[in-house]
Amino acid sequence: MTDAVLQTKGITKSFGALRASRDISIDLKPGEIHAIIGPNGAGKSTLIGQICGTLKPDAGSVHLLGQDVTQEPTRSRARAGLGRTFQISALAMEDTVLQNAVLGALGAAGKPWRFFGNALKDKALRETAEEALERVGLQDQARMRTAELSHGQRRQLEVAVALTLKPKALVMDEPMAGMGSEGSKILTGFLDKLRQEAPILLVEHDMDAVFSLADRISVLVYGEVIATGTVDEIRANTAVKEAYLGD
Ligand code: ADP
Ligand code: MG
Repeated sequence: MTDAVLQTKGITKSFGALRASRDISIDLKPGEIHAIIGPNGAGKSTLIGQICGTLKPDAGSVHLLGQDVTQEPTRSRARAGLGRTFQISALAMEDTVLQNAVLGALGAAGKPWRFFGNALKDKALRETAEEALERVGLQDQARMRTAELSHGQRRQLEVAVALTLKPKALVMDEPMAGMGSEGSKILTGFLDKLRQEAPILLVEHDMDAVFSLADRISVLVYGEVIATGTVDEIRANTAVKEAYLGD
């Protein structure tokens, strides 16, 4: 028996001749931030796609809260408590910040899109959305069009949308990408606290953020996990230095 909230066992996935995931077994434990690092094209987003259900592994399995969800679609994984943020933003830019958060809350409640018109008037959904916005510090921007937000604020909004699920585990694909140092600092502080509520599988290139946040790091190179360990272990690992971190 494992206490992992999220686990992959021997995940394997090819795109034609390219083996993008090779026998990947990783897990996420309560209260932790587990960072996934590795060069561009290493297979980080492919791994996340299989965990969240947008991609089907050729072999291996995905487990959420002890349940095998390998055959489950994305939405049932989300309903079971798997929250995610995307490398490429999935926000509705012409909608307001609050509308995006309400849309998240609507999905979290398992209601179809056609209820969206009424969702803004639904007190419970609206409260869930407002609470999530407040937690990421966007309460004053609720009525702005999402397109008017700064890049950093949009990334905060994506976290808020994920929070409307009241997630039991979070998967984030490069949440710091394109953020200034101020924005990264705010988000780092927020994720640091959030891990107590929902452990985070964090794909991230910002090594300052990774080294300050991660309880464990796994290094992915050519679709394969070449090392998993604490920050100190990974920084001292010769193979990792050669493959990714440099000197
Ligand atoms: P990372 O997120 O680590 O940068 P990706 O998971 O996006 O890497 O990509 C891993 C490899 O798989 C890359 O070589 C990429 O070009 C390839 N790849 C990703 N998605 C597809 C796809 N849908 N079809 C074909 N090749 C893909
Ligand atoms: Mg990627």
